[in-house]
This record gives sequence, C-alpha cells and structure tokens, in this order.
Amino acid sequence: MMLDGRVAIVTGGGSGIGQATVRALAAEGAAVVVADIDEHGGESVVAEVSEAGGRAAFLRTDVAEADQVEALIDKALGDFGRLDLAYNNAGIEGPQALLAEQDMEAVQHVFSVMIEGVYLCMQAEIPAMLESGGGSIVNAGSMWGLAAYPLWSPYMTAKHAVSGMTRAAALDYAKDGIRVNAVAPGPILTPLLLRGWDNDPANASGRVPMGRIGRPEEVADAVVWLLSDKASFITGHVLPVDGGMLAEKG
Ligand code: NAD
Repeated sequence: MMLDGRVAIVTGGGSGIGQATVRALAAEGAAVVVADIDEHGGESVVAEVSEAGGRAAFLRTDVAEADQVEALIDKALGDFGRLDLAYNNAGIEGPQALLAEQDMEAVQHVFSVMIEGVYLCMQAEIPAMLESGGGSIVNAGSMWGLAAYPLWSPYMTAKHAVSGMTRAAALDYAKDGIRVNAVAPGPILTPLLLRGWDNDPANASGRVPMGRIGRPEEVADAVVWLLSDKASFITGHVLPVDGGMLAEKG
C-alpha cells in the first residue's frame, strides 16, 4: 500500500471531506490521528477504521487553541511514534452578509478556525515532521481561496489566506523534505455545503460545468495523492477539485 508505515493527522476528520480522507489514508496503510471538536463523528470514523483492520486514534481538538494543537502532535508521536503527513481540513462556513454588515466577533471566529487554525497546525506539525525526516502537508483551501463570491467575505478572506500560507510554507521548507500544498474544492456534498445552500444541493450544482456537485471521496483522493510520494516534485500548489468551475473563471 502507498502509505504503509506513515503516520497522518486529519483535522476536522469527524465529518464530510475530512472523514472521507481518514478512510482513504487508512485504506492506503497510514495510521491516522483524527482531530475534531465533534467527538461522536471523530470516534465513529476511528471505530470504522479499526474494525476494517486499520490503525487510527481520536483526540478532541479545537484547532484554534495552540495548546490543543500541541497535544494533538503529542498524541501522534505517543501513539504511533512519528508524524509524516497532515491534512489541515477543519473548517466552518461562517456568516453570510454584506462586508460592512458582518459581525466582527463572528468574523474573528472564522479567522481563528481557518486562518490561525491552519497556521498553528503547520507550526506544530513541521518540527515533528523534520524529526521524522520529512513530510507532506495538505491544507484545505477552496476555489473561494482563488476567486471570490458575494456575501461570504469572512470565508473568502480565510481561504485566500490559506492559499497564501500554503505557498509561503512550501518555500520556507522546500529544501528540508517537507512539501506543502492545498486542495481547492468546488461544491462538495457535505453537511457544510448543505448548511450553506439551504439543504438543497441543486442550488450549488447548477453553477458547475460538469453539471453536478462533487463527492467527499473525490477530494480525499486528491489529498491522498498530494500527500503521497507520487506527488514528490509538487509543492506550493493549490489544486482545484471543482468540476471545472475555476477554468470557467479564467
Ligand atoms: P463539514 O462541516 O462536513 O466538516 C468540517 C469538520 O470540521 C466538522 O467535523 C467540524 O466539527 C470540524 N471543525 C469545525 N471547527 C473546528 C475546530 N475549531 N477544531 C476542530 N475541528 C473543527 O465540512 P466539509 O465540507 O467536509 O469541509 C471540510 C473543509 O473543506 C473545510 O475547511 C471547508 O471549508 C473545505 N471546503 C468544503 C467545500 C464544500 O463544498 N463542502 C468546498 C471547499 C472547501
């Protein structure tokens, strides 16, 4: 298997794209530490992986809290002895309003989970990966980290920051055996998408050149590939997984 002997962290692994990625990494032989604030979702995917003969563990982790992120790295090192791979995926959709009408407390919450959270995770993961002889990180960006859409400025801002910090981190560690990339999904059928589109996926699919929204597994496959040695000369890349939406935007 492609990731035999590797140890991975997946934040936001208790739902949607994160959960699909936990399954896909375990199926390739990686041991996976699942981090989420949703204990039920995290514990259930860990049980599923274990029942299938894989290795996984859960730690309740709020990625916006530095001490909890440190504890997450300690969990990976304590349970599995090393850290090679990370998918920094935890995210929220944030509030929908005109920019001048956004409530700053809610905006700061979006930034703390999706900007500081991803940044803190990379800060904690990179030293552990250097200790393990190198590694590979994928951050959860979005097509809205490369283009914009009205009324969601906190989310757009956060995802543009993820694109930027991915490229910056990739350059900082390019000579140290650590690759850093991001995926930029278009609309993917998850609880987050359903919350944002009034529980009706048809509201989102009409905008996709391929005429449908994506499945979490389609993003997970891209993440696993970017994390693996199959992508060994790719770093600083933000990969659209969007059914052609960004191609249309030029
Ligand atoms: P989801 O709501 O199904 O899953 C997100 C997970 O993150 C949940 O389990 C949630 O509990 C967890 N989480 C939220 N805040 C957290 C925190 N502070 N600490 C730890 N965990 C936390 O959503 P999803 O659609 O699977 O989204 C996963 C990622 O993909 C997000 O970053 C999202 O922005 C991004 N994304 C999703 C889509 C889409 O259409 N679904 C498109 C582009 C990008």
